[in-house]
Amino acid sequence: MKRQTVQRQVIMENFFSMKDHPTAEQVYQQIHTKYAAISKSTVYRVLQQAAEDGEIARVEVQNGPDRYDLRRSPHYHIRCSVCGRVDDVKADRLPDPMKFLDDAGGYDITGCSVMFSGVCSRCAGTGK
Ligand SMILES: [Zn+2]
Ligand SMILES: [Zn+2]
Repeated sequence: MKRQTVQRQVIMENFFSMKDHPTAEQVYQQIHTKYAAISKSTVYRVLQQAAEDGEIARVEVQNGPDRYDLRRSPHYHIRCSVCGRVDDVKADRLPDPMKFLDDAGGYDITGCSVMFSGVCSRCAGTGK
C-alpha cells in the first residue's frame, strides 16, 4: 500500500511538470527513464483515477488517446493536426454551448467539448 502511494506521488509530480496535456503514454515515457519500476498499467490507472476523482481533467481527443490536463476549470483546446499536441486557447468571449442547447433530442447531456484544430508554431516552423 505504501509503495502504491509513493508511485502515485511520482506519477502525479511528473504529470504536473508536463504542461502540454500529455497522454498517459507520454507520462509513462517520461517516468520510465527515471523510475523503471513503475509499470505502464500503474501510470494509466493512477491518471484515470485522478481524473475520476476530479483532481485532474481528461481531454478527449478525436482519433487519438485521451490527454490529461492539470487545469480543471472549463477552457478550450486546440490540437495540432501535424504533431497532435494539445494546447489551451484563450477564448473568453466564446459562449458556453451548453447554455444554447434548445433541444437535446431526449438525450441526458453529460458534457460538451470544443476542440480547435490548426498547425502549431513548432510544426509551422515559426516558433518553438
Ligand atoms: Zn505541431
Ligand atoms: Zn487545457
